[in-house]
Amino acid sequence: MRLPIGVRPARPKEYLFVKMPNSIQRMTRQRRILLDVLDRKNWHPTAEEVYHIVRKQAPRISLGTVYRNLDILSRQGTITKIEEAGTQRRYDGNPTPHYHLKCLDCGEVWDVPDEAVTWQRPLDVAIPGFTITGHRLLFEGYCARCMEERQ
Ligand SMILES: [Zn+2]
Ligand SMILES: [Zn+2]
Repeated sequence: MRLPIGVRPARPKEYLFVKMPNSIQRMTRQRRILLDVLDRKNWHPTAEEVYHIVRKQAPRISLGTVYRNLDILSRQGTITKIEEAGTQRRYDGNPTPHYHLKCLDCGEVWDVPDEAVTWQRPLDVAIPGFTITGHRLLFEGYCARCMEERQ
């Protein structure tokens, strides 16, 4: 029997009740917890800091799993990864492009406030044979607390 145009057949019941494998359910749940932990403004924790908080909600989670899932989320563009040679990677729940400040003494990382950015496109470059999709900028210096301690 042909259905009139625009009318779609109802899906068979068993299709609606297909269960996701347990491993995928667990992964989804873990990533949701990670995103909840990262959902704070101006906060850039290391994977270890995230791990210590996540463990309270998911006691059996391993540090390796936290690392793996944070990397997957940053590759998807759901979160931002702040990478720097020689230091621990930090993560940021804010996926929109923004700049960072880093204190060379305490290692803390902050967002550059929007009002501090006075230029429009600081890196308006075209490189032949390379497609630019973005850029990262990290300002280095000393935070007020560390400056005070130095005096
Ligand atoms: Zn500092
Ligand atoms: Zn940030």
